[in-house]
Amino acid sequence: MSENKMINMTNIDKYYDDFHVLKNIDFNVKKGEIVVVCGPSGSGKSTLIRCINGLEDIDDGQILVDSIDIHESKKNLKAIREEVGMVFQHFNLFPHLSIVENITIAQTLVKKISKKDAAKIAMDLLRKVKLEEKADSYPGDLSGGQKQRVAIARSLAMKPKVLLFDEPTSALDPETIGDVLSVMKDLARENYTIVCVTHEMGFAKEVGDRIVFMDHGVIVEENSPDEFFNNPKSDRAKQFLNEILAH
Ligand code: ADP
Ligand code: MG
Repeated sequence: MSENKMINMTNIDKYYDDFHVLKNIDFNVKKGEIVVVCGPSGSGKSTLIRCINGLEDIDDGQILVDSIDIHESKKNLKAIREEVGMVFQHFNLFPHLSIVENITIAQTLVKKISKKDAAKIAMDLLRKVKLEEKADSYPGDLSGGQKQRVAIARSLAMKPKVLLFDEPTSALDPETIGDVLSVMKDLARENYTIVCVTHEMGFAKEVGDRIVFMDHGVIVEENSPDEFFNNPKSDRAKQFLNEILAH
């Protein structure tokens, strides 16, 4: 395997009982690459990216993250989880913890960083996502877009190399989406390797290196954003693009 691959998935098969959700998928991402995954609902996008940090098991194939085989040992899985941050559609913040505590808790529990150092890292990250004034608020007091920026700060606190985003803006009010995308665009210009499931075409065009289009558990087409949006090859991609453009 070449040195510059960050994610290396080969011949991945996965079933939910009898349902074949991922069908012999090969998916590779280079270090520092920004890949946007799109496709109709139910096509297997979430399942695919959840496999990358072991949130889903697979039935066949191999997954290497930063050359570590995720299924070789529990130790490997733990190592990969520390390198891979994930941001979900519904934020998954701890409602009973303040914003700053949401960002310090894993640092102190998992990384054994002192409370003081963890709080300093948290404040730096809150500044980065432009929410330092919300440090002592609770998730319930924030808008969806603000919660999502906290969720991003929380995942950055673990100093991941890879960031996985699963439709990070699709549960948000339209007026709060821009601030989240702006933070994500900043991250895309840093050193992170990013896999983002999204239908935000502006984001995909501006920072995406590659678009991967899935349907029915297979990667139907992958291309540069320009090529994919202007000149989709498959009928399924054409139909999908027509549908999202109609919204
Ligand atoms: P997408 O993110 O593209 O919408 P998913 O990966 O969430 O697709 O789901 C792909 C298919 O697998 C869907 O048909 C969904 O209903 C099914 N599925 C997802 N998770 C489970 C599960 N835990 N058990 C059974 N079926 C599931
Ligand atoms: Mg999904």
